[in-house]
Amino acid sequence: MNKIEGGCLCGEIKYYSKLDPLFTTVCHCSHCQRQAGTAFSIIIGIDRKSLHISGELKCYEDIGNSGKPVYRKFCGNCGSPIISDVRVSPDLLFIKAGTINNIKSLRPTKEIWTDHKLDCITINGITEKHKTDGK
Ligand SMILES: [Zn+2]
Ligand SMILES: [Zn+2]
Repeated sequence: MNKIEGGCLCGEIKYYSKLDPLFTTVCHCSHCQRQAGTAFSIIIGIDRKSLHISGELKCYEDIGNSGKPVYRKFCGNCGSPIISDVRVSPDLLFIKAGTINNIKSLRPTKEIWTDHKLDCITINGITEKHKTDGK
């Protein structure tokens, strides 16, 4: 049984994983804000090898605060951001949580880059907060 399933707005990109997410994190960094077009991203960390994707993703090569590449992959047709492939975490992929099918099941427990957080945002259930990336 698939533990994670999702896809983009137009339906061209679909993905699944048979493994549970490793963590669910709210990222307030300025790059996620711009890419998502809103105040923050919720990202799901999963084992890279467990993710199966169909459809062709486009890629924007960003540079993370580590100075290493962050490959931000999105649907070339509808523009939905799907995956961040962060070179400092080679075993993981980060799914943009707004694209998963059962979004109501998500329970984010960690916030990062809270220095960029809008003052009006409070997220319930957070047990760990970091001003930067927490590394
Ligand atoms: Zn699409
Ligand atoms: Zn971010």
